[in-house]
Amino acid sequence: MLILWWALVFITGASVGSFLNVCIYRIPKDESIAFPPSHCPECMKRLGVIDLIPIFGYILLRGKCRYCLSRISWQYPAVELVTGLIYVFIVARLGLTIAALQTLVFLSLLVPVTIIDYKHSIIPDKINAVGVILGLPFLLQSREIAYSGIIGFFAGGGLLLIIAVISRGGMGGGDIKLASVMGLFLGWKYLFLALFIAFSAGAVVGGVLLMTGIKKRKDPIPFGPYLATGAIVSALFGQTLISRYLDFMHL
Ligand SMILES: [Zn+2]
Repeated sequence: MLILWWALVFITGASVGSFLNVCIYRIPKDESIAFPPSHCPECMKRLGVIDLIPIFGYILLRGKCRYCLSRISWQYPAVELVTGLIYVFIVARLGLTIAALQTLVFLSLLVPVTIIDYKHSIIPDKINAVGVILGLPFLLQSREIAYSGIIGFFAGGGLLLIIAVISRGGMGGGDIKLASVMGLFLGWKYLFLALFIAFSAGAVVGGVLLMTGIKKRKDPIPFGPYLATGAIVSALFGQTLISRYLDFMHL
């Protein structure tokens, strides 16, 4: 029965991933995510129920549209697979708790943020707004979580706003708002850890891209994927990382 339970958790995550694919495809184009129903972007034919089954639909169609045979991006099953695995990992770590639900909601937002920012260099306001709306109810868990989340909300946005002013446009408005959403979900302590990881990863990867000549100094590098990476690491391993660090410093 245990295997069935984990299969159910995975399928739930993969189905959320399937919805996230719609968001990733439609939000940058300012299209509705509810209407029209899923269709092939090439021939516009509406997809059947079986074609829409996460991962399985893609395998069944061998990566091609049933009608016009145009290729379906591997990004679709990849997002479904990754989201499914995230759900299994979090439920295994945190059980069926409010904290698990909070982390699942947060990471489900970060998946489209990462891909949309990587592809289009924008973090849509819609996603950040949904993040605030979905993040606020979790502050009701306790007074401590509420204070930490509110401080995190202002600290995250404020800090990135200062960096944006100093670096004169190195940081976009979407990044600033995302840092606020991160603070709301993570609380100020894990927010700072997430930002530390994001800036370290950005410096290392950015440095490598510059040295290898893949990117030039003037090229904009989307910062959203680094923020999301920092947030994911902090949400999943933050507790362990912070206590190891305090042990190491003998604090
Ligand atoms: Zn087609």
